[in-house]
Amino acid sequence: MKIHEYQAREILSGYGVPIPRFEVVDDSRDARRVAEKIGSMVVVKAQVHVGGRGKAGGVKLAQTPREAEAHASAILGMDIKGLTVERVMVADAVDIDREYYAGIVVDRATKRPVYMVSAAGGVDIEEVAATTPERIHKHPVDPEDGLSEADAQELAGKLDARPHVARDIAVVVEKLYEAFIGSDASLAEINPLVVTPDEQVWAVDAKINIDDNALFRHPDIEAMRDPSSETDELRRAREMGLSYIKLEGDVGCIVNGAGLAMTTMDVIKYYGGEPANFLDIGGSSSPEKMQTAIDIITGDPNVKSILLNIFGGITRCDDVARGLVAALEEQPVGLPLVVRLTGTNAEEAGRILAEHEMESAETMDEAVEKAVELARRQA
Ligand code: GDP
Ligand code: MN
Repeated sequence: MKIHEYQAREILSGYGVPIPRFEVVDDSRDARRVAEKIGSMVVVKAQVHVGGRGKAGGVKLAQTPREAEAHASAILGMDIKGLTVERVMVADAVDIDREYYAGIVVDRATKRPVYMVSAAGGVDIEEVAATTPERIHKHPVDPEDGLSEADAQELAGKLDARPHVARDIAVVVEKLYEAFIGSDASLAEINPLVVTPDEQVWAVDAKINIDDNALFRHPDIEAMRDPSSETDELRRAREMGLSYIKLEGDVGCIVNGAGLAMTTMDVIKYYGGEPANFLDIGGSSSPEKMQTAIDIITGDPNVKSILLNIFGGITRCDDVARGLVAALEEQPVGLPLVVRLTGTNAEEAGRILAEHEMESAETMDEAVEKAVELARRQA
């Protein structure tokens, strides 16, 4: 799950990372009031779930409250990479002498969190990685041992040679790691980590992504979810317990189990088709779930046929068939539908489908071939 910069700032601040004070507003007059309260130069920053806001014109310095209001009014409502800015942060601006990068991601290859620091901060780190990878220092962290003080000092030393500045940076490096572990993040980064001309260290930007599978342990973070940053389909799928990922093809798939869903996508490709989505309806399949799945899939204008591929283990095929019939009675799909149900109570399911004059396929191959063919004919 992505969270906003201001929320990441709150988390980091809670771990003791030095963060300039700030407030979040959705009205330009409020931005002016916050700037008055802060009483010095401020920075007005778009709060949207994308990076590169600075380049897109979503981060602006203001010398006066009046200027802060003008910037807020320009940034609010702005479109940044397809997202509309609904709120801005007004933060105490710091003078920048140097901009560094410090971040942690989970690295699948080493199966560890990897700490990355670079003296080339303030710019897109992917760009640094692509053009001057030697400027990024990587340090895998053993999750059992954690990050030692010596590790933190070594990383800080890569950023700044001045001992007292490096000492302050080492503290931030340690606290960022604590925040990363403590909030079950998959990514936590500060870019830029700023050193001022008078050698103070401040985290001026913060980004944290949370591992969805750990959210149940963090109701406070779950509450940070911004519904406006999630598409309607994604929200409905999540609320109904469906795993849905939209793809570019035209064969809509409704499948139970992630493994079978992946296999189904492979078999669609094998028969020359393109899956329109990955959709795992999970263990049980109430009519509501089926209805939501069908709604989400038919909401995608690319979809030309729908393939329902269910293996009944704990899930009973007759339940699925009843759910499907109920869903279709509620709202007919208007697209060719191929159903393949196998496993527990498959015979009963077949009878239910036949009663409602719905065609079913015996095997996965047969079902997929049919669905691909039907999509092609519609195209
Ligand atoms: P991003 O573009 O989405 O990564 O947003 P950032 O928060 O990183 O801001 C982009 C750039 O704006 C930073 O790299 C800084 O150069 C500049 N900036 C942000 N906050 C401040 C600040 O408090 N003072 C100064 N002088 N510049 C800032
Ligand atoms: Mn940044």
